[in-house]
Amino acid sequence: MKELETAFGKSLAENFSSEIQSSGFEVVDDLYARRVYSKDLWPRNLILDREASLPNDANIDAVVRPVEVGQISKLLKLANEMNWVVIPYGAGSSVCGSASAPSRSSAPKRPTLVLDLKKMDRIEALDEVSMVAKVQAGILGQVLEENLNARGFTMGHFPSSIYCSSFGGYLATRAAGQLSTHYGKIEDMVLSVEGVLPTGEIFATPLAPRLAVGPDWNHVFVGSEGTLGVLTSAWVKVHRSPQDRKFLGFHVASTPDALDGVRKWLQAGLRPAAVRIYDEEESKLLHGYKSGVKLIVVVEGDFPYVDFTMRELDKMASQLSGWENLGADPAEEWWAKRYDISYRQQQILSHRRMILDTFEVSTTWSKLPQLHLAVKAAAKKVSEGGLLVLLAHFSHFYHSGGNIYFTLCGRNPDEEGTEVFYDQVWNALLEACQEQGAAISHHHGIGRLKVAAFVRSHGVLYEALRKFKNELDPRRILNPENLGL
Ligand SMILES: Cc1cc2nc3c(=O)[nH]c(=O)nc-3n(C[C@H](O)[C@H](O)[C@H](O)COP(=O)(O)OP(=O)(O)OC[C@H]3O[C@@H](n4cnc5c(N)ncnc54)[C@H](O)[C@@H]3O)c2cc1C
Repeated sequence: MKELETAFGKSLAENFSSEIQSSGFEVVDDLYARRVYSKDLWPRNLILDREASLPNDANIDAVVRPVEVGQISKLLKLANEMNWVVIPYGAGSSVCGSASAPSRSSAPKRPTLVLDLKKMDRIEALDEVSMVAKVQAGILGQVLEENLNARGFTMGHFPSSIYCSSFGGYLATRAAGQLSTHYGKIEDMVLSVEGVLPTGEIFATPLAPRLAVGPDWNHVFVGSEGTLGVLTSAWVKVHRSPQDRKFLGFHVASTPDALDGVRKWLQAGLRPAAVRIYDEEESKLLHGYKSGVKLIVVVEGDFPYVDFTMRELDKMASQLSGWENLGADPAEEWWAKRYDISYRQQQILSHRRMILDTFEVSTTWSKLPQLHLAVKAAAKKVSEGGLLVLLAHFSHFYHSGGNIYFTLCGRNPDEEGTEVFYDQVWNALLEACQEQGAAISHHHGIGRLKVAAFVRSHGVLYEALRKFKNELDPRRILNPENLGL
C-alpha cells in the first residue's frame, strides 16, 4: 500500500486497492516484485543491469493478477479513466524488451501496472473430435503440454523457453517451437482468439477451420505484442500424441549443399518435425567438425507416417552428392539436450564487456545462402577492433524457405558503454538483413529492440498501423513504446 501511495497518491491508492480487492484481483507492490517485473530477458537490459547503469528503482508501480476476463475489462476501463499504463505480461521471457516497462526517463511518469496473466492457466475445453482446445493465456508452455499429453494429445509447440514462457506470450509474439516444420508456428495453430481491447471491451473471433470473412482479426492480434489488446484465451489445433519418433543425422559437404537437399525434401511434401543445419563455423566450434556441416532430422507421428517419411528422406538423401548418412546418434544427442543450450547465456553475460544474443531471420529458398553470407560479412565488419563471433544454424523450414538462427557473442573493445557496442552490432545486422529483403524476425518478435527496422519494414503501412493503434487505444494505455507505437 505504501508503494502504491507513492505512485498513485493516497486517495487514489485507497480507491485502487478497494476497487481491485472487490474484484478479487491480487495486487503486489513490494520493491522486489516491482524490480523483477520491470524487465524481461532482453540481453541489453541484462547488460545494463550487470554494469549497474540501471536506476536502483523499479519502472513499475504494481503487479496485478486477474483470474477472469471481466476483471481485465474493469481494470482497463479504470486505466483509461486514470491514465495508467498497463503492460500485459506472460512469463517475461521476451528477449526483445517487449515485456519491459518503458523507462521512467523517456516520458512523463504515469502510474504503470504489470498485468500478470499467470493465474488464468486452464485448458477450458478440449474437443477431441475436432482436435481443438480452448486454452487460457497465462498457462506455461510445459504445463499446457503435460496436461494435453495426459489426455492423449500434444499441441506440437516446443519453444526452447517452454519451461519459462506462456501461451499468451506465444500468441502475442508469433512464437515458433522446435518442431514447427511439422506442426507449424503458433499462427498456424490458432483458430480463434478472445481478449480485451485497450478501452475495456471484451471480444472474441469466430471459431472455424477456415473462413472467407476478412480481415482476419486473429492475425491482427497475434503478433501485436501487447499493444492492441490483452489476449485472454484462444482455440488452437491439437494433435494425437505421436506413436513413434525416429532420428537421422548427416554430414554434408557445405551449407548450400545441405540447404539444397532440405529444400528438395520440403518441396516434395515431406514434413519432418525438426531439421537443423549447423553452418561450417557452428559445426566446427560447437560440434567438433573438421570440415563440412552437421544436419539432424527428427520425424514423429503415427507409425505408418514415420516409416514412410523416414524411407523417403533417406532415399532422396542417398541421391544427393556430398551427403553422408551418420545414423540416428547425432539427432538423438540433440533431442536429449534440446532445451539446455538457451540457459547457458547467463554464464557468458555475467562477464564484464561481453555481449551475447540471438538473431532469427527468414527468407525464401533462393535468397537463404546469400542472406547467410551477408549477415556474416556485416558482423565481421562491425567487429573490426573488437571480438565478435557469429554462429548460425537453420532450424525451421517451409515449402518456400526457412529461417537462420544466428548466435552472436562478442566483447566490447572499449572499457565502457557495452550497450553502445551492443546497439552498433544489432543495427549492422538488421541493416544487412533488410538489404537482402529478408524478414527481421522469424519468431522472437520486435519489442523495443528492433523498432527502427520494424518501421522501415512496414514502409507506408507503419503510419496506418499507428493510426489504428491511436483509434484502438487513444490514451496509449497498453504497452506504450513497444513496436514504436
Ligand atoms: C532461453 C530462451 C529460449 C527461447 N526460445 C524461444 C523459441 O524457441 N521460440 C520462440 O518463439 N521464442 C523463444 N524465446 C523467446 C520467448 O520465450 C518468446 O517470445 C515467448 O513467446 C514469450 O512468452 P512469455 O509468456 O514469456 O511472454 P512475455 O515475455 O511475458 O511477453 C512478451 C510480449 O507479449 C505480450 N503479452 C504476453 N502475454 C500477453 C497476453 N496474454 N495478451 C497480450 N499480450 C501479451 C507482452 O506484453 C510482450 O509484449 C526464448 C526465450 C528465452 C529466454
